[in-house]
Amino acid sequence: MDSSQLHVAIVSSPGMGHLVPILVLGNQLASYHNIKITILAITTNSSSAETEFLKKSNGKKSIEIIPIPSVDISHLIDSSTKIFTRLRILVREALPGIRSVIASMTHRPDALIVDIFCTQTLPIAEEFNIPKYVYHPTTAWTLALAIYSQVFDKEIEGEYVDLKEPLKIPGCKALRVDDVADPLLVRSDQQYEEYIKLGMEYASFDGILINTWEDLEAETIKALRNNDKLRSVLKVPDFPIYPIGPLRRTVEITERDEVIQWLDKQNHESVLFVSFGSGGTLSSQQMIELAWGLELSQQKFVWVVRPPSDGDADSAYLNSGGNNIRGTLEYLPEGFLTRTKDICLIVPMWAKQVEILAHSSVGGFMSHCGWNSTIESLTNGVPMIVWPLHAEQKMNATMLTEELGVAIRPAILPTKKIVKRDEIQGTVRMLMQTREGKDIREKAKKLKMSAENALSEGGSSYNSICEFVKDIRTR
Ligand code: UDP
Repeated sequence: MDSSQLHVAIVSSPGMGHLVPILVLGNQLASYHNIKITILAITTNSSSAETEFLKKSNGKKSIEIIPIPSVDISHLIDSSTKIFTRLRILVREALPGIRSVIASMTHRPDALIVDIFCTQTLPIAEEFNIPKYVYHPTTAWTLALAIYSQVFDKEIEGEYVDLKEPLKIPGCKALRVDDVADPLLVRSDQQYEEYIKLGMEYASFDGILINTWEDLEAETIKALRNNDKLRSVLKVPDFPIYPIGPLRRTVEITERDEVIQWLDKQNHESVLFVSFGSGGTLSSQQMIELAWGLELSQQKFVWVVRPPSDGDADSAYLNSGGNNIRGTLEYLPEGFLTRTKDICLIVPMWAKQVEILAHSSVGGFMSHCGWNSTIESLTNGVPMIVWPLHAEQKMNATMLTEELGVAIRPAILPTKKIVKRDEIQGTVRMLMQTREGKDIREKAKKLKMSAENALSEGGSSYNSICEFVKDIRTR
């Protein structure tokens, strides 16, 4: 590394949903802006997908990955501790490890970027006098909610879920009570307090990078930049907002594995891909209804299945990929695999999602609406059936269906009730077979173009990332 080369350290929390966008951001900065990147990845050792991903990504271009060893937090949590709280605690306990890595660096980073769960590193950045930025890997709308929630906390009495009116974030579209992000659902839960703190920590950074783009969320981005009431919570007066997305993994298909070979044999845009992110799980009853609904739809589909869980819908989050053992799939309806053998491919636990969504046979994606999955779908022009499960996914689902018109949803919210087989079959057929489905696909393709424009030279996200790099250089 020559001494004039910028050095940026990026801190990532565990989980594929966090590691993926951090690695993509690191690659972008290293490849296109000649920046030396050090990623401090807080690991858990419990996810085979995560371990594999880190192994493959290390040493590429100017990227060095330093794993921050997992810390035992079992004495700080119990079975009721939500994933949001667990992640905040994991990061808190890893702070000494992060500090010592930064302290020992011979070339101190010119900037520190932290992911959504790593804002507690703020004092470390301040101690070493390093400019500090958050990478918010989802929408501008969820960012507005995160930073403004400290005001809601003071203004709202009682539970948010009991409110009669939607929540009004200044300058942004209103947030329906049904769509409120999980951490705000129960005020007495520790994750509520952690979420409010996270929003306050966000406001103390020097700027925020968001994985969205101007055309996608023009109104909200404008509010984040100019709305006095919304900006009044920010501690830095010139607080910059950098919409740099959609950053996502791109892959070259080097080997045509079983799934790709199966897709090769299908008709153009005829297959529905069904997957619920790195850790989403369904209840046993919902799993049965989904299997029946997919079978009755008689559409071709690829389904990434993992064993049902009657606990939280994100219960596999820190264990994604599992041990990749081909399970007995005994939780699927009797005879399902035999009856559907000509229309479906079942992938246990983990699939190469980016490759699948890029395949021309895929014409729809039933998704939990995690933001990485969402942009992987949209940047391939694939329309979606939204099935939000946890975190901020209900907000994403509403934006995709009601605002952008690139997705449809079952009439019942999966987080509230079991979606029955007839409803599922109807929704799948609507997307894959009807005129309405075709119109939605057209809109998804337009959004793909809009994303490409934003990222291309002179596009809004391209300019935004250049501005960010300039900002670090001038500090
Ligand atoms: N993913 C994958 N294969 C799977 C499940 C997930 O490659 O079987 C990847 C997916 O492509 C995405 C990430 O894991 O990049 C999941 O992130 P997302 O934000 O969609 O959801 P989360 O897992 O954080 O809920």
